[in-house]
Amino acid sequence: MIKEQIRLFCPATIANISCGFDVLGLALDSIGDEMVLRKVSSPGIKITGITGQDLPLETDKNVAGVAGMAMIKALEYKEGFEIEIHKKIKPGSGIGSSAASAAGVVWGMNQLMGSPCSDHQLVQFAMEGEKLASGSAHADNVAPAIYGGITLVRSSSPLDIIRINSPELLYASVIHPHIEIKTSDSRKILKTSISLADGIKQWGNLGALIAGLFKEDYALISRSLEDHIIEPVRSILIPGFDDIKKAALAAGALGCGISGSGPSIFALSKGGDKATEVAKAMSLELSKIKLNHDTYVSVINTKGIYILP
Ligand code: ADP
Repeated sequence: MIKEQIRLFCPATIANISCGFDVLGLALDSIGDEMVLRKVSSPGIKITGITGQDLPLETDKNVAGVAGMAMIKALEYKEGFEIEIHKKIKPGSGIGSSAASAAGVVWGMNQLMGSPCSDHQLVQFAMEGEKLASGSAHADNVAPAIYGGITLVRSSSPLDIIRINSPELLYASVIHPHIEIKTSDSRKILKTSISLADGIKQWGNLGALIAGLFKEDYALISRSLEDHIIEPVRSILIPGFDDIKKAALAAGALGCGISGSGPSIFALSKGGDKATEVAKAMSLELSKIKLNHDTYVSVINTKGIYILP
């Protein structure tokens, strides 16, 4: 149905998921931005308001404006949209703040235009916004935001996205320590080559994780949530990481790792009660070292972005 104005929930997302560096992502449900989109007769994208964070209103400096304009250009659309962004996801937290805006705007525009575009095309437009935020057009956060659930980006060029099954009882616990890690810095410290032995471990785990998700085999998911390549390097930027991970696993998490490029840390658990216990255990470790943080517990959001009443 075409409406002139819609209000959207745009989910936070966890990219990488341990062994799936740069290819896996999942959408959360208990944390996300809200956006309002209005169809107007004046051409282009106008950002009329942003609450919650101090971010640029200029169309070409905001990921929402850039992603929206990429879609307008590709469709040669003659009219335009006004958007309001109500930020709940802090930029630089590692849970896809820019992706929520880039994905939200193109998903909402598609609704208001009568759905001319596929999810695949929407991800391509949203990736243009991601290019502004991080310098590279990556899809690992915008894909789960748009498709919902868990996604695998087999290739970014040409874009090939596979939606992976989300077991019903799979929950995420996320803690966001209030420290700043620039995505560019956490990229810079990574090695550009890996050993064959590390490669074998990583693709063994990634293949098994995907199989575990489809089979809903929680023990296999747990055995596969390992990252021998990125986590040992990046975790040194996150105070208390090793103790937080130990605490999450001791509390019964299936696995635990860095969300995106950090500093947020995620754990996956079977069931909401277990995920709440795990989040408490992780939070306690950060409290011990007196690091302020936010804590979230969420089921995997299989809808992705959706219209709010
Ligand atoms: P995260 O690490 O949480 O995924 P990102 O690194 O993806 O966050 O994005 C944050 C960067 O994108 C910041 O530099 C921020 O100023 C910029 N940015 C531009 N527009 C937006 C927007 N609408 N929402 C969030 N960040 C934005």
